[in-house]
Amino acid sequence: MSNTIFLLPGDGIGPEAMGEVRKIIAHMNDTMGTGFILDEGLVGGCAYDAHGVAISEEDMAKAMAADAVLFGAVGGPKWDSVPYEVRPEAGLLRLRKDMQLFANLRPAICYPALASASSLKPELVEGLDILIVRELTGGVYFGEPKEIIDLGNGQKRGIDTQIYDTYEIERIAGVAFELARTRQNAVCSMEKRNVMKSGVLWNQVVTEVHKRTYSDVKLEHMLADAGGMQLVRAPKQFDVIVTDNLFGDMLSDVAAMLTGSLGMLPSASLGAPDATTGKRKALYEPVHGSAPDIAGKGIANPIAMIASFAMCLRYSFNMVAEAYRLEKAIATVLDKGIRTGDIMGEGCRQVGTSEMGDAILAEF
Ligand code: ATP
Ligand code: MG
Repeated sequence: MSNTIFLLPGDGIGPEAMGEVRKIIAHMNDTMGTGFILDEGLVGGCAYDAHGVAISEEDMAKAMAADAVLFGAVGGPKWDSVPYEVRPEAGLLRLRKDMQLFANLRPAICYPALASASSLKPELVEGLDILIVRELTGGVYFGEPKEIIDLGNGQKRGIDTQIYDTYEIERIAGVAFELARTRQNAVCSMEKRNVMKSGVLWNQVVTEVHKRTYSDVKLEHMLADAGGMQLVRAPKQFDVIVTDNLFGDMLSDVAAMLTGSLGMLPSASLGAPDATTGKRKALYEPVHGSAPDIAGKGIANPIAMIASFAMCLRYSFNMVAEAYRLEKAIATVLDKGIRTGDIMGEGCRQVGTSEMGDAILAEF
């Protein structure tokens, strides 16, 4: 079995956070015989500086061939005025498109030690562990027509089109049900079937996929607006939420704020299984951005990046026990009151990026 991981640290705090993951991978190779083979490329502003593009063809090919891609963050004021097609974010969009990463997984985990930082009462979120599965390559963000037309009477018309085909809903539902089986075995599907035809189809297809293949999983349907309300009222009722691109974008940001730690959350984006190997293309990245304001200072919180690597262990290498141990190590370090500046609390000890990485490694 090949274990190649392609690192794309990117810009800003990306390389600093990635450095801590490198330490963990080196430790695993040394002590657990994991045999991970690392390669590294450029994406975003640093790729533009080196090659005049957001990601080179050579690095794209490496990303396509790797078993998993770890992505840091891209962008920063230095590249605010580069041409639109080669802006830093174009690198990530190209990766998503070419790797056909249709399933975006955003866990909302509330570490007990940070429950008081939530926008909600601590008891509502302590121990929260939700997984939002967002469809990432279809829906209203991509549907055609998509334009602004001049109506000629001083009026203009903005048009976006929500389109979902059966196969797109089937494959995202399949991912959600599969993941639910590894968790609390419950899926809540969210759409707006009361006002949208694509919502009617979404509901039907999810129901059929469930009946056909996953009837052992508990399935519930909710209108997305009611779902948003429930997410804030009683978030612990959810295990896996599956929803479309637009609703998933909004609901995952809401869920992130429930945890009180946007800067600590990981994400994964998965593609379809390979026809011969069955292996999914996958890219793992922290939810936060490049944080140019603190880049290069050695104070960035590496936890989101490390937790993204834990997801990589779980979903790309089926190393479930190791993933769990790494997540447990993060929780233990937080319990001990070791914090980077962004999550600093009363009576805690403030550390830098590297010290935080070392502390997690020591518990791993
Ligand atoms: P994006 O690049 O997605 O547009 P953004 O610019 O909206 O992201 P971030 O780059 O995530 O936001 O930064 C937002 C704020 O959070 C900044 O003040 C930044 O310093 C802080 N921040 C983000 N990530 C971290 C981190 N890992 N550690 C410490 N602070 C962070
Ligand atoms: Mg930013």
